[in-house]
Amino acid sequence: MKSEKLFRESLNIFPGGVNSPVRYYKPYPIFIKKGKGSRIYDVDDKSYIDYCLAYGPLILGHSDKDIKKEIKKQLENGWIYGAPTELEIIYGNMLKGATGMEMMRFTSSGTEATMHAIRLARAYTKRNKILKLYGGFHGSHDSVLISPGSGAIGIPSSPGIPKEVAENTLVANYNDIKGIKEVFSKEGKNIAAVIVEPVLGNVGVIIPEKNFLNELKNITEKYKSLLIFDEVITGFRFHYGTASKYFDISPDITILGKIVGGGLPLAVFGGKEEIMKNIAPSGKVYQAGTYSGNPLSIAAGIATLKKLKNLDYKELEKKLNILIKYIGDASHDKKIKISFNGIVSMFQIFFTTNKVKDYPSALTSDANKYYQFFQKLLKKGIYIPPSQYETLFLSFSHTNKEIEYTGQVIYETL
Ligand code: PMP
Repeated sequence: MKSEKLFRESLNIFPGGVNSPVRYYKPYPIFIKKGKGSRIYDVDDKSYIDYCLAYGPLILGHSDKDIKKEIKKQLENGWIYGAPTELEIIYGNMLKGATGMEMMRFTSSGTEATMHAIRLARAYTKRNKILKLYGGFHGSHDSVLISPGSGAIGIPSSPGIPKEVAENTLVANYNDIKGIKEVFSKEGKNIAAVIVEPVLGNVGVIIPEKNFLNELKNITEKYKSLLIFDEVITGFRFHYGTASKYFDISPDITILGKIVGGGLPLAVFGGKEEIMKNIAPSGKVYQAGTYSGNPLSIAAGIATLKKLKNLDYKELEKKLNILIKYIGDASHDKKIKISFNGIVSMFQIFFTTNKVKDYPSALTSDANKYYQFFQKLLKKGIYIPPSQYETLFLSFSHTNKEIEYTGQVIYETL
């Protein structure tokens, strides 16, 4: 197995042998050399139907020919200038139309976008605290790598994060309006913003209960805090636009990433002009990036959105429903304890009988069973995220035949 050999080499270069921790799993990760459509190919030439899809960006599948064409066209003219381009305006206008953002800034990663959005919210409201929801992931910077401590006060979830930083991040449970109200009744006037993934996608998939997002909006309005929707995963995932439009809520700041870069490094934070104009150089809130808005990523993003505009997301929903049917049948016929959450093109299975509605209930899943499930699917040529606490994604490139095959394999494996 070439992957095993490469992994041993990799261990001498990269901590844990990988360049992002989710890529490691026991005994060693498969190394990929090619991606095409719904499939990835490992270094031993084995092909897998891919439901990880690079953790979200590839809604059109790997190596999409139209995105490739636009990237190649841009390559001929160079790939970075450190100066503005007309492409940025074209893309900015497309995103404005699709999301309702009045102004935005491009960054290269979701982590940067949430970091700057939080700085902006703090500067705009002149408050220091933020509220995040337990299990929500917003990148790997200090203010958001925080777990719940006693009461609502956060504790660092990684060594190296000063407790003084963690103290400014409060944590409540997702889908728990009562808990969030309690935090606001004590700390409301100090809370600059609530940052939330409208659908949780980094603890498996967790869907908002009826009125949860609406009520969250009402609370932030009441206390004059900002509502930040982190749509790095959900943007353009359920329809041509944001989850906020899908659920009909207006956040103050929106973060986009993954899909909007077409698989190249690109993220966005944006919202009302009154808030966004505080960013330098029109305002005093500093934000910068050598690669921000680089023409290759923008070209890939434009090509992706142009294509998505003409595609019917119901196609994805139909594929999801086929898989749901197989999973439901397996659970019924074999009397296995599973819980399932899915929406349009993202889903996850939990090995628990509890309804998974927040992070504590997600933690009742038997993650070891999930790992065995992952390994068995891998052997049968189906690649899902190795961790229980990630999301399976569908793309427009998965064929119905592949979906049926996947459903059958899942049925047998469960
Ligand atoms: N927010 C969410 C909701 C994410 O899922 C991620 C990445 N998985 C991030 C932010 C961070 O994005 P990036 O990896 O591009 O820094």
